[in-house]
This record gives sequence, structure tokens and C-alpha cells, in this order.
Amino acid sequence: MSPSSRPRHSFQTDDPALVPIARKVEVGERLSFDDGLALYRSGDILAVGWMANFVREKMHGNIAYFNVNRHINPTNVCVASCRLCAFGRKKDAPGTYTMALEEAWETAAKGLTEAVTEFHIVGGLHPDLPFEYFMDLVRGLKTRYPKVHIKAFTMVEVAFLAKRGKMTIPAALQRMKAAGVDSCPGGGAEIFADRVRHIICDHKIDGGEWLETAAMAHRAGLRSNATMLYGHIENDEDRVDHLLKLRAVQDGTGGFQTFIPLAFHPDNTALAHLPKSTGMMDIKQIAVSRLMLDNFPHIKSYWQMVTPKMAQISLRFGADDIDGTVIEEKIYHDAGATTPQGMRRTDLVRLITEAGREPFERDTMYRAVTRSEDSFTVAV
Ligand code: SF4
Repeated sequence: MSPSSRPRHSFQTDDPALVPIARKVEVGERLSFDDGLALYRSGDILAVGWMANFVREKMHGNIAYFNVNRHINPTNVCVASCRLCAFGRKKDAPGTYTMALEEAWETAAKGLTEAVTEFHIVGGLHPDLPFEYFMDLVRGLKTRYPKVHIKAFTMVEVAFLAKRGKMTIPAALQRMKAAGVDSCPGGGAEIFADRVRHIICDHKIDGGEWLETAAMAHRAGLRSNATMLYGHIENDEDRVDHLLKLRAVQDGTGGFQTFIPLAFHPDNTALAHLPKSTGMMDIKQIAVSRLMLDNFPHIKSYWQMVTPKMAQISLRFGADDIDGTVIEEKIYHDAGATTPQGMRRTDLVRLITEAGREPFERDTMYRAVTRSEDSFTVAV
């Protein structure tokens, strides 16, 4: 029986605060700040999940998206000392690395054995590497692998590189595009509220600057993703505030593609005393995001952060995407993530199929990918 013909059980809850929210969800009415708080504070996860799944299936039916991608983290040297981070290191600290350009291109080449459709490039804010290093890196990748989409530089990196190159952010974005950047990843958003940001990541751009930079990227014709780091010192109000600020930018630009809630991994960070996120928190974060971000096309449950098992369950709680094969993730593994460093395409297909969803291999722009063993074509 297809999901559309399957009888849908009606909404049920033992939490009266959810009843008016369910009415809004069923008619497609936008949820308010207070609705967001009520969702976070409800113990009825199945009712919250029912609503998120209702929206998810209305938008995407039974499809669940994944892609075949490779991460490239060119350097872990970083001038910022974010307390949330286990990846960035000061220039002279032990364990630093910076890839020579040839090395970065070779790393990318390894991804071609799985016919990757995307390179995901993020790294530290290196105090000495010139703007042109990053442009050469991207240009070199585009020349060698013209079919592969380059998703590079978070808003934090865009703002930092613009400053390094002594140019405005719009000018830097134009140079990046000309070098071969096709879109931008969503990292560095963390939590926008100043109170939290001062504690967890005082040295990077503030929340307002992150949002403005994202809007500039969209105006430059680059789509981008957005994230939220949860499960540290933020509260329910901070999370709702974060989601509503993203929703407001999206109303203006329409340039966000996917929202990815990221569970905080405390190991090896300055916040190592904090507990890890729980399953309930992970699932609820996905569901609330789907419900509040009515203008975001996609909600991703990133298996590296929440485990493949939780990502699989999320496909019934509002998520329509579980990210990709990834291959060689460093940032969350430095922070104690115990998930594998990569998965095979067949593993992702199995996770999705067993969740009762229909696997859909996408490229970065969510176009269908048709593949043979070692090559692919994208429907345009
Ligand atoms: S989170 Fe990013 S900006 Fe902050 S220290 Fe880590 S690598 Fe640097």
C-alpha cells in the first residue's frame, strides 16, 4: 500500500497545549514563538512527531533523500577558540595540519572511486593562508572534477576570508563563485542568541552577521544550508529564536535549501563536562524544526551526529534527508563522535528502505542522480 493510500490515523494527544497547534498544522498555518515553546516543552513526542510527519509527507510523500559526497577539511588551524570545538587548533599547537593543494586534490580524487557528486569543504580560520589558496583549491577541483558540485565555506569562513582578502563580503562571494563554488554549507550558525554565543563561540561572527552573510550569499546566487547546534547551554527560547530568525531570512531570500540540527558532541571541547544529547532531544529537534521552518524545503537528520539508527527513525519524525556517504569526516570525530567516518551507498539505501521510505539519490540541488558503478548523470 502506498503511503498516500494508507489510512492515516487521526491526531491524538494527552497534552492540551498541542491541540491548537495541531489545528494550525493541519490547515498549514504558520506557528508562533509560543507554539515553538509548547512543542519543545511537550512530553508527547508521538503527537509532536505525528504533526511533523504530516508536514513532511505533504511536502515529500514517501521519498527520503541521500547523496554520495566526500568531505575535505583543508586545515584545522584556527584563530578562533570556540569552546564548542574539538577540531580547531592554534597555529603552533600539536596536531595541526594544513593540506598542500596537491594533497587536497588527491583527497578529492579518492572520493571518485565512489563517484561522488559533491565535495563538502569546510575548515579552520587559518591566520596566514591567503584568500588565493582557497580559490586555487576550488579552481583546481573544478578543473579536475568538473561534474562534481562544490559546496564550500560556511558563513563564518566567507566573512573571515573576505577580511583576509581585504574585500567586501559580496566581492568575496563573487570571487568564490568565479573560482567554482556552487553553494555554501550551513555550519557556524550554532545558536544565534548573544548570551549563548558569548560563551560557546565568542571569537567568530555574531548571529546577526551570520544571517546577513547568508542573505548576501543568496543574493549572489548561491544557495546555502543552515544549522543549529543544540544540546549544550541553550534553552528552549534560544532554540525557537534561532529557528524564527532563519525563517525570517528565508522569507526574504528563499535561498536556504536544507536545515540541519546538529547535536553537540562535548568530548575534547572546553565544554566536556556537559552531557551528550539524548535520543528524545535528537528526535524532538528534528520534529520541531520541520514544524517551525515552514519555508525550508528540507530537514536533514545528519547520521554522523545522531547515529544512523536515530537518523533512520527521524525519517518518521519530520526528516526527509539523512545526508550522504560523507567519507572521512574529521570535525565531529575530534569531538568524540563514535559513528563511522563514512558509509557506503548501499548502507544508506538500506537504512531508508527499512524505515519504509523510498530512497532517492540526489545531487546537492536535490536533482535525481542516475548512476552506474563509477559514474553518474544528473537530471537537469
Ligand atoms: S568552530 Fe570553527 S571557528 Fe570555532 S574554533 Fe572550531 S574551526 Fe575554528
